[in-house]
Amino acid sequence: MKDVLIIGSGPAGCSAAVYLCRAGFSVTILSSGDGALGRAHAIENYYGFAEPIDGPTLLAQGRAQAARLGAEILQEEALAILPDIDGFTVKTSLGTHTARTLLLATGKSRSGLPVPGFEKLRGRGISFCAVCDGFFYRGKPLGLIGSSLYAAEELQELLRFSQDITLFTNGEPLTASFPEGVRIVTDRITAVEGEEKVSGVTTTGGSVPLEGLFVAIGTAGAAEFAAKLGVAVEKDDILVDENFMTNLPGIFAAGDCIGGLLQVAKAVSDGAQAARAMIAYLKKS
Ligand SMILES: Cc1cc2nc3c(=O)[nH]c(=O)nc-3n(C[C@H](O)[C@H](O)[C@H](O)COP(=O)(O)OP(=O)(O)OC[C@H]3O[C@@H](n4cnc5c(N)ncnc54)[C@H](O)[C@@H]3O)c2cc1C
Repeated sequence: MKDVLIIGSGPAGCSAAVYLCRAGFSVTILSSGDGALGRAHAIENYYGFAEPIDGPTLLAQGRAQAARLGAEILQEEALAILPDIDGFTVKTSLGTHTARTLLLATGKSRSGLPVPGFEKLRGRGISFCAVCDGFFYRGKPLGLIGSSLYAAEELQELLRFSQDITLFTNGEPLTASFPEGVRIVTDRITAVEGEEKVSGVTTTGGSVPLEGLFVAIGTAGAAEFAAKLGVAVEKDDILVDENFMTNLPGIFAAGDCIGGLLQVAKAVSDGAQAARAMIAYLKKS
């Protein structure tokens, strides 16, 4: 069991790892990809670079720094978090990891679809959490948008509540295996239908009537983990106290996923402050 498991290898996660490793704690960082910084072409407002630096280079430097100081960085996508008596187990695309404390540093959630009806029906038949809301749709025709391992995980949850499920890949290739018997629609989604609540999904190939639509696009972000764990969230931002701890003891959060200024400087600062608080927490417990 590690002292700290960090989900996210962006500026927030790696900055926290630097402080935690230098204080002598064991750290594993899980990473599913490059996050926001990997998509930034030129950063010219971050301290210490006389000339603009491109995002992927800054990101690689941060990861190399954390690794040099002893952090284990694994290319594994976190799929689910399970609280244990003495810490947490995180299920990933390749296995499981356990740790005494967790830092959510997953950046901003990218879930959602820019099609008519989606925003209007959020929370009115559109859900981002099968564990949280599947129960309300027992035996009803459901849709699930997604094509990845994360979507496969959500589908397993939904199958406990309904056998009438259509998977919408929205034109994306399937990157995980899905059980037999689930209808798969590969056409692009053009609209989510419904007035007061979801009544169906229209794709380039036709319409499918539904009573609930679950969303599991790409990877699970902090907001999705939070919803499942009961971590308090406001408008997609994880709520933390002055010590960057969520309302669940031992789970901290930092960077874009807690909102505020969505910039590298703030993510690095959050990571450092969260690490200091985690060090105090670990020493006390
Ligand atoms: C195009 C663009 C330009 C930008 N320009 C600037 C700029 O000029 N100046 C500036 O200061 N900021 C800029 N930003 C913002 C900056 O990149 C972010 O504020 C910063 O990267 C946030 O850091 P973070 O660590 O919170 O999240 P991110 O950098 O998004 O990192 C999130 C990490 O979480 C990981 N992750 C997510 N989900 C999972 C999962 N389920 N399992 C495992 N790992 C997971 C990702 O793989 C990634 O490693 C820009 C952003 C973009 C997109």
